[in-house]
Amino acid sequence: MTGMDALPWQLAAIDRGSERRLQTGFLESLVNSPNTKYLAVRDGKTLVRDRQIVFLRDGLPAPAAGPVVYLGRSEDGTELLAVELVHDDPADDDLADERLPGAEPGPGESARWLGFRSIGMELPQAQAQYFIEALAILNWHRVHRHCPRCGTATTVEASGWVRRCPVDNSEHYPRTDPAIIVAVLGADDRLLLGNGATWEPNRFSTLAGFVEPGESLEQAVVREIREEVGVRIHRVSYAGSQAWPFPASLMVGYTAWTEDAEATPDGAEVARARWFSRAELQAAVLSGEVIISHRMSIARALIEDWYGGLIEEPTSRADV
Ligand SMILES: [Zn+2]
Repeated sequence: MTGMDALPWQLAAIDRGSERRLQTGFLESLVNSPNTKYLAVRDGKTLVRDRQIVFLRDGLPAPAAGPVVYLGRSEDGTELLAVELVHDDPADDDLADERLPGAEPGPGESARWLGFRSIGMELPQAQAQYFIEALAILNWHRVHRHCPRCGTATTVEASGWVRRCPVDNSEHYPRTDPAIIVAVLGADDRLLLGNGATWEPNRFSTLAGFVEPGESLEQAVVREIREEVGVRIHRVSYAGSQAWPFPASLMVGYTAWTEDAEATPDGAEVARARWFSRAELQAAVLSGEVIISHRMSIARALIEDWYGGLIEEPTSRADV
């Protein structure tokens, strides 16, 4: 599979139990159950050993820095909970398993705290999905502790999927910020990629931007491409999406077509814009002249969807 067909995880590997989790006492019934595993997150990282997440058992891990959240039921019937742990000792970044009570023991190397960008692609697909879900919901809890109407501290309900204000009774739900990401194709079927103003100069990717309030996704595509590289889009086609909770995005992928041959980067968000034929892009990537996004990303999927196959990389390339 290549391109959008290879986009990670079109099908969910977890049953989120959106009705189950509403039941009073549901979460409490799971906390000490032998069928429950915890996915612990600390500073955006989780515990990993031998390219597998190390789940915690034997009751709620401590010290928790926020609420416990129900992630769902895995395909083998295990109930998965997520919890953010307090990180008060930066020296224990490479801590060994025995430091965390309940950590599943295992052979081989000791467990380490790793972020999604470091390890996500190497995890089993189901575990990568659990990690993404945990990051997304825990990120929301971390920065939505107070009622946006009156400022009162809110309480957590629905197994971690709702916060309620005890003063005005308003309910608050997890938020996701849509962003568009676009493969722009020219009349000659070349692909337009941009180099972000804050990136290393040889890194190129598809163009992207946040959707504004009151704007459709398609309008956002047209506006962002015009703003960032001065190119007028006349047609857009939806390609696929990817949850990207860093901290709260949903990347919505499009292919878009232009008749314009000139691209002028705005200099603020995009420093360089460059058209590539398929042969040019493959040669530039293989020689190391150009670096493109990681194979796990929707940016790479959009690029390879246009390319029509996998783009080869130099074997010495370091993962980012
Ligand atoms: Zn309130």
